[in-house]
Amino acid sequence: MSGCRHLVLLLGDQLDAQSSALKDIDPAQDVVLMVEAEQESTHVRSHKLRTALFLSAMRHFAQELRERGLQVHYRSLDRENDATLAAGLQAALATFQPRAVIGVEPGDLRVRAAIEAALTPGLPLDWREDTHFLCSIPRFARWAGRSKTLRMENFYRKMRQAFGVLMEGEEPAGGQWNFDADNRKGFGKAGPQGLPAPRVYVQDEITQDVLRLVDQRFADHPGDVARFNWPVTRAQALVALEDFIAHRLPHFGAHQDAMWTGMPFGWHALISSALNLKLLNPREVIAAAEQAWRERDLELASVEGFIRQVLGWREFIRGVYFLDMPGLADANHFDHHQPLPSWYWTGQTRMNCMRQSLTQTLETGYAHHIQRLMVTGMFGVLAQIEPQQLCDWYLGVYVDAVEWVELPNTAGMALFANGGRFTSKPYVASGAYIKRMSNYCQGCSYSPEQRTGPQACPMTNLYWYFLDTHREAFERNPRTALMAKNLARLDEAERQAIGEQARISLNDLDNL
Ligand SMILES: Cc1cc2nc3c(=O)[nH]c(=O)nc-3n(C[C@H](O)[C@H](O)[C@H](O)COP(=O)(O)OP(=O)(O)OC[C@H]3O[C@@H](n4cnc5c(N)ncnc54)[C@H](O)[C@@H]3O)c2cc1C
Ligand code: SF4
Repeated sequence: MSGCRHLVLLLGDQLDAQSSALKDIDPAQDVVLMVEAEQESTHVRSHKLRTALFLSAMRHFAQELRERGLQVHYRSLDRENDATLAAGLQAALATFQPRAVIGVEPGDLRVRAAIEAALTPGLPLDWREDTHFLCSIPRFARWAGRSKTLRMENFYRKMRQAFGVLMEGEEPAGGQWNFDADNRKGFGKAGPQGLPAPRVYVQDEITQDVLRLVDQRFADHPGDVARFNWPVTRAQALVALEDFIAHRLPHFGAHQDAMWTGMPFGWHALISSALNLKLLNPREVIAAAEQAWRERDLELASVEGFIRQVLGWREFIRGVYFLDMPGLADANHFDHHQPLPSWYWTGQTRMNCMRQSLTQTLETGYAHHIQRLMVTGMFGVLAQIEPQQLCDWYLGVYVDAVEWVELPNTAGMALFANGGRFTSKPYVASGAYIKRMSNYCQGCSYSPEQRTGPQACPMTNLYWYFLDTHREAFERNPRTALMAKNLARLDEAERQAIGEQARISLNDLDNL
């Protein structure tokens, strides 16, 4: 079709059947454009499963749009072979010569800039709001106002009230907003009991074609396509949600922070990739959890703990991304510049907590929140790794990674690179925390209690060194004053020994 009315550009993470870009589409005059671009898998080294998930979900979504009677111009890597989104867009502009381009605001400002730069000068571009989210970008900015620090808990309470979630009149259900104290238990010596098996998704021809393509084209990227098992259609995403609500939500809260060897998924929802591709809508996820609580008499602590992640953290993190970019991408509060140890790409380290979390990530494209925050992320702060290097790693290796959600979580929450804009203290702890929350220390060459000496746990040693390095800041902050007090109990000789050992480790991170 030459000279169409609108070219409607849908990105790989905008697979929302209710998309604002589709609301006034006219199949007779408009064309939907979807582009598979090489650069989206290479600008950070993308895990094979992450690339496969995006491509398979995009191809399925294009098929569904065609079944709705829409005209879809789908540019695939094995046919048109576009190096970049911009190249694909420009080719489509030349073919269809639209009078305007319509799109949904991208969740990655790099992508937005590339699209804008690729347009023919003077061609109108209509960026529409991403109505997938409950809180729009302007609404979040109004809530944040001029505050220097932002607290998720305050935002979450407003969201509960505004959307009437888990409310009894004006009051929170159960008389409390937050049940954290009842959640976050370890497993004890016996380990996880009665864990339901993860759901297995059927791979149709579309998925199998994509897996072959990704395996050949990105042969040197991490991951093994034989491990692919993520929902790629709305139907599969709904199965994922139902599976979680039926089998894992009842115990979600209690075990949400616990880790165990050979237990990659625990009681977690495993829906972040489906949510971020927009195959699931957060409203239906929240409603399903609340309904299960009302009808099945589930523990409120579990249900509230889960809803807080979706209605609170997810919406909050997105608001922060748009509020604090572009500065957030370059933030480096502690001025850390260590290179990323090579074993982040192999899992080959003697630190068992890191080995388990990294191996699992490289095998499945998934790690749960505490593995990301308190193992691979915490090591990043303690080992003084440059935030941008670790952010690129997180963006590449997780199947649910898109910049709007990955960057604030990594730079802001895990690495404190923005100086505590939305966290009241750095998330740092010694190996004792990991010992309490997992069985990782049992299979480790190091000993979590030891601060110095050949068996000293690098997490523990670097934690104390970090406290010592930032002693004044820890003393000033009421949330960390106790940590500083504990440091003050160490004698000078011990502090010296901690420093010496830390410097040796920091000079040779690749050999830990
Ligand atoms: C360093 C770091 C990087 C992260 N990078 C990403 C990322 O790239 N993409 C991503 O979706 N999540 C990211 N998270 C948040 C969280 O780890 C994942 O959302 C979660 O592990 C996904 O697994 P699940 O679906 O089983 O979630 P559950 O643990 O079962 O939680 C339910 C849902 O809540 C939402 N959620 C929970 N915590 C967060 C959070 N902090 N921010 C946003 N949404 C949240 C997710 O949509 C998730 O599916 C990151 C966290 C950290 C600490
Ligand atoms: S001893 Fe230290 S390095 Fe080893 S698993 Fe425990 S916390 Fe990790």
